This record gives sequence, structure tokens and C-alpha cells, in this order.
Amino acid sequence: MRFATLTRQPDDPLLRIIGQHAADPRARKIDLGVGVFRDEEGRTPVMTAVKAAETRLLSEQSSKSYLGPEGDTGFVRALAKLVVGDAVASDRVVGLQTPGGTGALRLAAELMARAGVARIWIGSPSWANHAPLFRQAGVEPAMIPCFDLGTQTFDLDGFLTGLNAADSGDAVLLHGCCHNPIGIDPNAAGWSVIASHIAERGLLPVVDLAYQGLGDGFDEDAAGARTILSTVPEALLAYSCDKNFGLYRERTGALFAITPDRDSGATVFSNLLGLARANWSMPPDHGAAIVRIILEDEALTAQWRDELETMRRRLESLRAALAAGGRIGAIDLGAVAHGKGMFATLPLSPAQVEWLRDRHAIYMAGSGRINIAGFNLAAIATFHDALRDMVA
Ligand code: PMP
Repeated sequence: MRFATLTRQPDDPLLRIIGQHAADPRARKIDLGVGVFRDEEGRTPVMTAVKAAETRLLSEQSSKSYLGPEGDTGFVRALAKLVVGDAVASDRVVGLQTPGGTGALRLAAELMARAGVARIWIGSPSWANHAPLFRQAGVEPAMIPCFDLGTQTFDLDGFLTGLNAADSGDAVLLHGCCHNPIGIDPNAAGWSVIASHIAERGLLPVVDLAYQGLGDGFDEDAAGARTILSTVPEALLAYSCDKNFGLYRERTGALFAITPDRDSGATVFSNLLGLARANWSMPPDHGAAIVRIILEDEALTAQWRDELETMRRRLESLRAALAAGGRIGAIDLGAVAHGKGMFATLPLSPAQVEWLRDRHAIYMAGSGRINIAGFNLAAIATFHDALRDMVA
């Protein structure tokens, strides 16, 4: 009887919030919990370019035979061009398709463990899955607190000072853009400082780029990642298409490795293939095929970029409307305007988060993280009123 040795694990707190929200009968309830994009009506629609690519795929696909552990190579090639651009010579880049950004991070972690990386330094707070994911793959996470929620700022000096404790050969996780859960990224000067700091100390950067196009703009959002990749001899880049193509459940992502030369790239790639094979054998095809069809077709690419830009603008205007609430008690909503992308974390205590849920049917993570796309303009007014009620 082996199962008796297991202990019951706690529910995922965010899934619990989703369940509570679904069961809440109040008409004015607001869901700021789950991290998916929503339109003004609260829907997470399939993008028109994705539908068009899917229709084409349905009529043109002639086989569903296996592709291989590297997945759809056309997808990987097109994505590399889009993301890495000419920041690094193409013979220094290898990549493969993964089940979402999570799969890419998992593969990155396993490659690091195999290469003897013992620790990964992560600015805290970070996406709740980062620390357990790296730990379970054998790379110990070391957290560096480096955000001030009151002023909504990233403490660059604090982050760099934290990194001084790193050993050469340790890894560093960096959110490429639209930080989850804070929404605050380094500026261009900050990225340059981080890049040289990492290069000088011989650290391995792992860039997690899961929201490209939802921050400042498509190329702008890759600028930090490109600064890092062009400064160091070795790096990993985990990419997710699940937000910017709205493909969530299709689990669409890729892992890229930047290597010193073509020969070490071939070695890294052979290790990645073996690790993928032992994990999922081959990644799911559908989402990557859709992205490939879009990226290989100029008109579809333009349509997708247009839709993505509409999503980005919606987030930007909701953020501005939220920030217009100004100071409410000790909370300076105006500072939320510093952020980008889907998330912000407000300086709310767990008790205040609970109070907002019970009294005003406003649902968010216990940490105070909100999904800005969960709002519409009416809900923002409701939210401002609820905060005023809370501090009254
Ligand atoms: N990294 C970050 C920062 C994320 O927020 C997410 C998704 N919430 C992921 C990676 C994983 O993305 P995917 O859904 O493609 O696995």
C-alpha cells in the first residue's frame, strides 16, 4: 500500500476562488482572479485570425502522424524570428516546441539540472508556479524580494544586491515583459544594467516571455529579452503563445536556448530532445500549427497583430481608468499606472481581500493580485466605491 504514504495537498487557491465566484449569485460580482484576457463583455473569445487559421488547418491537414519531440519546426522557426529577431546570430539559437510556457520552463529546469545548475534566483513575488516548478526539477529557487506594492515600483538595486549572493553558474529568472503578478518591468536602462550584471557574474539568464504584445507593443515587449540575449554567451528563453494568441488550452509554447556556437547548440538541442521525449514524448500539435499558419501568412499575421493591439489597448485604458481612482485610504491606485499587461498587485491584506469578496462580490487572489482584463468601465467604478467603503 504505497498511496497511504502520501499526504493530502491543499487545493490551488486560485481554483478555489474561481469556484466561489461561479457559485456567487450576486449579479454585480467581479472576477479579477483567473489570468485570462477578457473583452468588455467578460468573454475570452477565439481570435479571428486563429479561427481563420483553424479553418485552413481543418481543410488542408492531410495527416495526424507523429511529428517528433521537437514539434512543429516551422512554428519554432517563425517564432524564433519574431521573438529573438536579429539580437543573436541564428547559428547560436536552437529551439523546440513545448506544451505551453509551463512546458518550456519545465524543460529549461531539467536541462539546467542536468547541466549542474543548483539554484535559480527569482525576484519576488513571482508567478506562483515558478518556485515549485524549478524545485521539482531539482533547481532550488532563491527568492529576492524586490517590489514595493505601495509605490508599485521594481527595486533594481535590491534585485542586483540580492544577486551578489549568487554563485557563478547559478541561473536567474527574468520576466520578459508584463510581470506576473506585479505588472512592473525594468526600463531599458534597467535591462542593460541587469544584462551586464548577469554577464559579469557568469549567471545563466532564463527569460520567461509569456505576454509579448500585451505591454508596450509587440517589439517593445521583446526589447528586454533581446538586451539580455545579446549580452550573454548562454541563455534560455521560455515562450508562451497562450496569451497573445488566446490559445490557452491548446498549450502552445517553445523553449529557445542561446549557445556560444553552433556545436554547443547541437549538444544542447540533443539534450532538450531527450528530455522532451521522457516528459511528453511529443508536444500537442494544434496550437502550434495555428500559430505557424498565421506567422507564415502576411495577411493573417497583420490581422492577428491588429487584434493583439486591440487587446493591449484595452488593458492600457482599463489600467488608466483604475489608476484614475487616485489615493483611497492608504492605497495609491495612481501608482498602478506604472504597470503593464494583465496584472497588478494591490497592497491589500488577506483580510481586506476577503472583505471585498464577502461585502462587494469582488474576487481576486489572496495576495491582492488583480487581472485588469477582468474589469470593464462599470466594474472599475464599482471597485473604486468598494475600496472607499472599505477604508471609510
Ligand atoms: N510564465 C508566466 C509568468 C505566466 O504567467 C504563465 C501563465 N500564467 C506561464 C509562464 C505559463 O504559460 P502557459 O499557460 O503557456 O503554460
